[in-house]
Amino acid sequence: MVELNKFKFSMKYSQLFGKTSKSIQADADSANAKLLTQGGFVAKQMAGVYNYLPLGLRVLTKIQNIVREEMNAVGGNEILMPAMTQEASYVQTGRDNMDVLFHLQGRDESELVLNPTHEEVVTPLAQKYIFSYRDLPMAVYQIQNKFRNEPRAKSGLLRGREFNMKDMYSFHVSQEDLDAFYNEKMIPAYEKIYQRLGIGNETILTSASGGAFSRYSHEFQTLCDIGEDTVYLCEKCGQAINKEIMEEVTGCLNDKCLNPKDNLVERKAIEVGNIFKLAARFSEAFDFKYADSEGKEQLVQMGCYGIGPSRLMGALVEVFHDDKGIIWPKSVAPYAVHLVSLGADDNVNEEAAKLYEKLTGKGIEVLWDDRDASAGAKLADADLIGIPTRLVLSKKTLAEDSVEVKERNEKDAEMVKLSDILKKI
Ligand code: ATP
Ligand code: MG
Repeated sequence: MVELNKFKFSMKYSQLFGKTSKSIQADADSANAKLLTQGGFVAKQMAGVYNYLPLGLRVLTKIQNIVREEMNAVGGNEILMPAMTQEASYVQTGRDNMDVLFHLQGRDESELVLNPTHEEVVTPLAQKYIFSYRDLPMAVYQIQNKFRNEPRAKSGLLRGREFNMKDMYSFHVSQEDLDAFYNEKMIPAYEKIYQRLGIGNETILTSASGGAFSRYSHEFQTLCDIGEDTVYLCEKCGQAINKEIMEEVTGCLNDKCLNPKDNLVERKAIEVGNIFKLAARFSEAFDFKYADSEGKEQLVQMGCYGIGPSRLMGALVEVFHDDKGIIWPKSVAPYAVHLVSLGADDNVNEEAAKLYEKLTGKGIEVLWDDRDASAGAKLADADLIGIPTRLVLSKKTLAEDSVEVKERNEKDAEMVKLSDILKKI
């Protein structure tokens, strides 16, 4: 199988574009903004707009690939839609007055917008290829940057004006088919994504307002004090309700639980995903119909499913860090191993080069700090960058034919014989 997004495998730190920096940007208002900037993962362009440097792009791409695998597993077809669109499509759905829309003008004075989401693009697109019940169900998705003129871009990657989103859209013959896909495929697929990202335990299925389309939509909320959302968590069944709809409810909305309202616990959370039953909201606007088995025209039923890889990258840092830096989950860490060679000693450097080749040859992604810098600086950088396993090679460890191994999330290091290192990792 052809592997998508194959990176340059291992890397010498001296060759890496974008190094650590201790000078914190003035508005680092959150752990993710501070640590991702200091660690050389991202560089701020302007409020809510970031450059991704090689380390940051590796993390973002790994998050995207986990999302991509789970969308493919439920039968999603990956496509790529344009970032800009004619404003007329938004007039057609009545959404041209949305306050987050960025407006542009073409040379011919045509009115254009940067898409904040893609219902206005995907619905007429699907209409070109779906005609009959035989063409349904169908699901398409993309992983792309979205643009929103947010009133308050803040908290690093958590709220951007340009940010990355995976958005999937599903098309169905009936409300029942949409319900089944939504409940049996999409909710479990999203849960799997958060588990693989290491935040399965703190990410809660949350009922939220459904807008015009259905009674409730579902958000996935990662419990975290920096989150902008307030949710009411049912500690009995592990589901939650967004504060914005609390007035309408009498208790937990999980019909197998129904824990009364007073028992729910208020928590702050980051919205990391949102799934909606659109039903016929957009198919009606574009007159998107299919012919049923009797040849009768029916409106297509739609669902939409968003998740924010860039916000997730920020959320992971918020959940997984300490006072020294980031602690990446293995599944998305930029590299698996941070090899640190200490002292400008030819023998140490030769042994480090051998170890670097050996690990890389076995398919282990290694970042080798090969710089001529102090032990203190190199070890502090390794903690800041947050790669799961640190290997330190020095004259002292070589005297024992060993390398010092330390996991980023553990306190103590351990000496391991060089001949045993592959087994250890
Ligand atoms: P919010 O309530 O936080 O503004 P939203 O409900 O408007 O978000 P959706 O349209 O549901 O967002 O977008 C789907 C997903 O895209 C969200 O769950 C989130 O993960 C991500 N996302 C939305 N807005 C932003 C943003 N400004 N910056 C980064 N990620 C975002
Ligand atoms: Mg949302």
